[in-house]
Amino acid sequence: MPDGAPWHYLDTAATAQKPQAVIDAMTHALGRDYATVHRGVYSRSAQMTLAYEAARKRVADFIGAKSENEVVFVRGATEAINLVAQTWGVTQIGPGDRIVLSTLEHHSNIVPWQMLAERTGAQIDVCPLTEDHRIDLGALEALLTPRTRLVALAHVSNVLGSVLDARVAADLAHSVGAKLLLDGCQAAPRMVLDMAALDCDFYAFSGHKLYGPTGVGVLWAREEILDAMPPWQGGGSMIERVTFEKTTYAPPPQRFEAGTPMITEVIALQAAIDYVDALGPEALFAHEAALATTLRGELRNLNSVTLFGPEDSAGIVSFALQGVHPHDLGTILDEENVAIRAGHHCAQPLMDHLSVPATARASFGLYSDESDIAALLRGIERTQRIFG
Ligand code: PMP
Repeated sequence: MPDGAPWHYLDTAATAQKPQAVIDAMTHALGRDYATVHRGVYSRSAQMTLAYEAARKRVADFIGAKSENEVVFVRGATEAINLVAQTWGVTQIGPGDRIVLSTLEHHSNIVPWQMLAERTGAQIDVCPLTEDHRIDLGALEALLTPRTRLVALAHVSNVLGSVLDARVAADLAHSVGAKLLLDGCQAAPRMVLDMAALDCDFYAFSGHKLYGPTGVGVLWAREEILDAMPPWQGGGSMIERVTFEKTTYAPPPQRFEAGTPMITEVIALQAAIDYVDALGPEALFAHEAALATTLRGELRNLNSVTLFGPEDSAGIVSFALQGVHPHDLGTILDEENVAIRAGHHCAQPLMDHLSVPATARASFGLYSDESDIAALLRGIERTQRIFG
């Protein structure tokens, strides 16, 4: 805080605070190293192109991709999912085909599919949750039909912290010939990502939740799937040859990166990945899961708290305080320098399922510690006193 008071940031699931290394990388890329990519013949542009493409390779290694050609830079997870819906979806999904989502999806993994369904005449099926708020894989199996073309699920829920057994979901989807898209927004900052082991077909995440900047994200897809996908936006960089008679397109990933890309953001994303990788995703997961377990235990000891989500949440804890709207709780906590999220978390169908208009959500990051939990609990106790 500007006044030097400690700030307890418990909203990392919305966006992560940035390590100095990321800020420095961005500053250098915007300043002393700045130039365009893929175009200039001068040396600084050539250097920047090398750095930009090295970042792509770094992402590919970080997520266990077979090749950097499977890594498309996009603006964020929302754009990644829309890209898949509007290219792969439009060409591969037709009337009567089915798309399976789950009750706990973020709006980014619902609305693009609804738009696609409206356009193509496809149907959406919703996979329910288990009692402890995980995606019910038994129910998923029962929902699948030979007409199911896509299963699109959150790898980790942004509201509940529930972790999907992605491999089982992949096997189920593939058993009926469907593709699996994983929304990895909340998994990328806290789990080891290995595309081969997950065996999914599409994976989407945002840089800003992975300690990198806003305005950059990643769509990963199998090379053969990307190869067969038509372009999305048209413009510079995505072409092979343009004439007024006929334009031919560049191979992936360039085919999907029209226009001057987010050069500095991509460079800074690499710095973020270096930072997270040095700490170790396993260690980050364990650190945040332990904090979540502690917080859940403490909240359970308080009167009139309802806890949502499974016990083994991945660093994200949603709860409700009886008689207090989450927004009021969030406002009072802010007076104590505790930042939580209060609202529907872009998951209104999940709120309907939980029969609440909103929840309070505390989410941890690599910088979180027990002092954040203590400050949150002090604030909750004060709120309970205020509300009698
Ligand atoms: N999916 C999940 C699970 C998320 O948590 C978020 C961000 N809250 C998104 C998708 C959308 O990410 P972005 O807004 O960065 O595109």
